[in-house]
Amino acid sequence: MELDDHAEELASDLGVDKEEVKSDLQNLVEYSVPVDEAKQSLRRKYGDGSSSGGGTPSAKNVADITPEDGSVTVTGTVLTAGERSIRYQGSDHVIVEGQIADETGRIDYTAWEDFGLEPGDTITAGNAGVREWDGEPELNVGESTALSFESDSLEVPYGIGGEAELADLEAGDRARTLEVAVLDCERRTIDGRDGETEILSGVLGDESGRLPFTNWDPVPEIEEGASVRIENAYVQEFRGVPEVNVSEFSRVTHLDREIDVGSDATTMDVGEAVRTGGIYDVELVGNAIAIRDGSGLIQRCPECYRVIQKGQCRTHGDVDGIDDLRVKAILDDGTGTVTAVLGDELTEDVYGGDLEDALEAAREAMDQEVVADEIRENVVGREYRVRGHLSVDEYGANLDAETFEESDDDPAARATAFLEEVDA
Ligand SMILES: [Zn+2]
Repeated sequence: MELDDHAEELASDLGVDKEEVKSDLQNLVEYSVPVDEAKQSLRRKYGDGSSSGGGTPSAKNVADITPEDGSVTVTGTVLTAGERSIRYQGSDHVIVEGQIADETGRIDYTAWEDFGLEPGDTITAGNAGVREWDGEPELNVGESTALSFESDSLEVPYGIGGEAELADLEAGDRARTLEVAVLDCERRTIDGRDGETEILSGVLGDESGRLPFTNWDPVPEIEEGASVRIENAYVQEFRGVPEVNVSEFSRVTHLDREIDVGSDATTMDVGEAVRTGGIYDVELVGNAIAIRDGSGLIQRCPECYRVIQKGQCRTHGDVDGIDDLRVKAILDDGTGTVTAVLGDELTEDVYGGDLEDALEAAREAMDQEVVADEIRENVVGREYRVRGHLSVDEYGANLDAETFEESDDDPAARATAFLEEVDA
């Protein structure tokens, strides 16, 4: 049967205008809905309950959808729609993810077919599946969903297009639009799922903060010092902090304006910071109460760069280690503790010498622990202001330090400020 005949049949069964039915039918078929399924959903749409078999899911407001709903019919405006490639049962599949909203609320969705959704479209999704994700309902729009585009748009109290600032981003966010400065960018080769691939990784900044990013399909617009607009970025957690992912489906364009990047990191209590589960850029102040083992002069595996003991790498066995300097200092501010990890340059500062000096001292003493001892003497008992990237995982709370400076707060001034606070 031709589409025209299907439309004729439907129109006479349902007693509605043939041209109207035909245009709906065409829409659905264009979006790859099989014709029988399309006819079923139009029967439902035009109110022929008799042939719908299992019954039409009830129309619901977004705010009323719960994970217990098996499927729903919902009308809403598309706020965001971002393509992403996933590997499903061994093959790559392009899905569209985002949020839709009505007057009552908004909800995440995943579209498993290409329905051609664009931000700003108002749609009715008939028989959309509901699944639970992190305790919240999410819509699954797929083969069995009858999707139609409405000509009347809804007034929704949300921004359309997914514009966001870095500080607002959370792991799980999809189809975000950002205007950011590329603060740091390096090209790396990784062992991806399809063998070796080149990626870009680094740090993005805007007025609200800074976050790390990965560009899985390197574009020339992303380079150190550039200001860019990134459309359709998604956010995943990496080492305890949100990371901006720029994929082959993202659109990156140059901005001809400078992005002001806030220079202040959030200052927090140690305990408060650790409870967040990880922050990319944070400043903590605490007393250095101890220097941990594995500080001072250390050796790294030439293959994996992990710290080795007595020339033995856990993965690569007997190796010729590379000498390096590092400090793991435990900081305590009374609310909690964190291990500040200092790289070679910051370690040189607190040691008061470079790698050559450290090697010389170790040779003289015939013990490389003298380097850690020296650092311990210089650091323990003093208060430090440290800024960097905090990760919290099974290895504890570690702060990858970018700066590590003795706190210049005058204890007497702080005591006075404290007393004033108590008096007030
Ligand atoms: Zn190794």
